Amino acid sequence: MAMRIDGKAISAEIRTEIREETASFIAARGYAPGLAVVIVGEDPASQVYVRNKAKACEEVGFYSEVYRLPTETAQEELNALVDRLNRDEKIHGILVQLPLPKHLDETEVLLRIDPAKDVDAFHPYNVGKIMIGDYDFLPCTPAGVMALLERSGIDPAGKKCVVIGRSNIVGKPMAMLLLHANGTVTVCHSRTKDLPSVTREADILVVAIGRADFVGADMVKPGAVVIDVGMNRRADGKLTGDVDFAAVEPIASAITPVPGGVGPMTITMLLQNTLTAAKKK
Ligand code: NAP
Repeated sequence: MAMRIDGKAISAEIRTEIREETASFIAARGYAPGLAVVIVGEDPASQVYVRNKAKACEEVGFYSEVYRLPTETAQEELNALVDRLNRDEKIHGILVQLPLPKHLDETEVLLRIDPAKDVDAFHPYNVGKIMIGDYDFLPCTPAGVMALLERSGIDPAGKKCVVIGRSNIVGKPMAMLLLHANGTVTVCHSRTKDLPSVTREADILVVAIGRADFVGADMVKPGAVVIDVGMNRRADGKLTGDVDFAAVEPIASAITPVPGGVGPMTITMLLQNTLTAAKKK
């Protein structure tokens, strides 16, 4: 039976460290690390994420501001807010909650954020830095996966790592981080032929697709480490991952549950990035 990688416990451990470091930072500098979160529109899931981010900031001793803008906000207004936050001395990290309403251009907004305050690491400047292995910020979800592996004593070096999913926010940076950690990395996607034959090669399998229970025992090598990034809502409202947990747990050596695996790490990594941004100022 696999070891369950407890994302809640690891996340709590890291947040305690961040709280302690924040206290030292405030004592030394006389101000707190500051995060501004911008949300446009009423998307209920985004509202929950933003509330959780603001609460997490408060718990570790950060200064935070939340800007709730109406759905009909014009591009120029959003741009002007980002410009103002770029100049604001109290703010070290800026996060614009995605997705934005359809009439707004996400790329334009992300390009406008000062790369030194880009705590989501979505600006092409930071994406490029990740590619060359010289980075200040890592995108929160892949960074969370790496922290889970590290704190569970799992070293990707020399291992066959397979990532399913090639999105810009999860799959691609995930593959790059495993490569930097000396894994031998394969990236799969919807056009991959005979996916199970590829995933069965994996010593470490990271799944970021967005389809409930997609990965069954037939896709996993006995003894593999299985990291489930997926977050899917079942018809009954319950959260579930991309991995069929009941089928895979008995054959894997370690596995992340959903909820309670990768999910709790994402905000923790956002806090980490904000502290890094404040320290670098
Ligand atoms: P996304 O942008 O929709 O990308 C999904 C990826 O999965 C794509 O690359 C797609 O391939 C691939 N895919 C889809 N169907 C497939 C199939 N049948 N076989 C193989 N590959 C397939 O999603 P995302 O933003 O990366 O998110 C992935 C999942 O992670 C979602 O469930 C999301 O909710 C979750 N997530 C969780 C967190 C967290 O904090 N835990 C954070 C972010 C995302 P193509 O490129 O060929 O279309």
